[in-house]
Amino acid sequence: MKIIALGSPGVGKGTYAKLIVEKYGIITISSGDLFRENIKNETELGKKAKELIDAGHLVPDEITIEMMKERLSREDTQKGFVLDGFPRTIPQAEALAEFVEVDMAINFKADKEIIMQRLTGRRTCKKCAATFHMVNLPPQVEGVCDKCEGELIQRSDELPEVIEERLKVYEEQTAPLIDYYKEKGLLRELTINEDMGKYKDQIMEKVFTAIDNN
Ligand code: ADP
Ligand code: ZN
Repeated sequence: MKIIALGSPGVGKGTYAKLIVEKYGIITISSGDLFRENIKNETELGKKAKELIDAGHLVPDEITIEMMKERLSREDTQKGFVLDGFPRTIPQAEALAEFVEVDMAINFKADKEIIMQRLTGRRTCKKCAATFHMVNLPPQVEGVCDKCEGELIQRSDELPEVIEERLKVYEEQTAPLIDYYKEKGLLRELTINEDMGKYKDQIMEKVFTAIDNN
């Protein structure tokens, strides 16, 4: 099963992607996580990406496509995957189509206020990259990761000024993918405004049903 998770920054697609892969025994591949790993390890790629990411801009298509092509050629992708954060532009989608045939693209939607709230409350583990939310999904101990006890921090691209820029970039460059996948007959849409802290099971039931009915 090969799924693309589409949706605005802050919509929660990374969280849904992680739960989807647990259920179906596939893997999630997040372009954002791959970039952050490269930044942390100070690779050439990481050096190129860091400033752009911190400013809320996209990393150029050429670099992103090369990174994802390499990742998707590995053995562990055989059974299937959920792509989180890639493709993010039409040229990326066209490049992807040349080496992978996807089964569906799920567009996750939520109201603007909810998206803002999700984005500003998000905290990420410095060590293992697990994500939490101050309101919706708080860790057991404030500031500490439940999984590895690493320190929880606010990502540098989740400061309010940068969030505005990311939402603008999303509208301009990524939203057109919705029509792109609609035209190919691959688009499914799900609106989720409920909070994962309280309604996780109901929300995921809705997501799994959409996948099973595909
Ligand atoms: P979110 O999904 O919350 O917007 P991500 O973790 O997916 O955040 O991405 C963080 C940043 O990494 C993006 O703002 C962008 O700068 C860069 N990035 C991630 N995926 C891509 C991509 N497919 N193309 C270009 N830049 C990307
Ligand atoms: Zn952790």
